[in-house]
Amino acid sequence: MPRPRCCRRIAGSPAAKTFKPAGLPASTLEEVTLSLEEYEAIRLADHEGLYQEEAARRMGVSRQTFGRAIAQARGKVARALVLGCVLRIEVTEAEAAELSCAPQVREFICCACGHGWNEPFGTGRPDACPACRTDNFHRKGCTGTGSPCGHASPNDQP
Ligand SMILES: [Zn+2]
Repeated sequence: MPRPRCCRRIAGSPAAKTFKPAGLPASTLEEVTLSLEEYEAIRLADHEGLYQEEAARRMGVSRQTFGRAIAQARGKVARALVLGCVLRIEVTEAEAAELSCAPQVREFICCACGHGWNEPFGTGRPDACPACRTDNFHRKGCTGTGSPCGHASPNDQP
């Protein structure tokens, strides 16, 4: 599968990377490996319940690429569930680096005065630009909606 490097968007590391049937030694079990991309496809389509068009857009891949990823991912998860396999989400070194260098702060930029500042995650959207007190500012970075001066999208909330 082609891997668009530029703006592939993965929201974050999975909560757990290995799932194992209880009560059986891992050494006796077959292992199924899900790529991070396949995991993200499942997360967006089946956990968040997005339409494939929207999920593909969020990941920055084509609808076709997304369709292949989700089909593969569902097949693997089904196999693990039915046959009792260990399910492992594979995060490559490059992907781990990509995830760990993802900004730990949210960057905002003021549309009125151009002031830029950072806010940590989890504090909600700031009320106003610290420099000029306007609320006409937007979040900077790759997770934005693409509108030049839109207000924070729902995605911006951690
Ligand atoms: Zn300002």
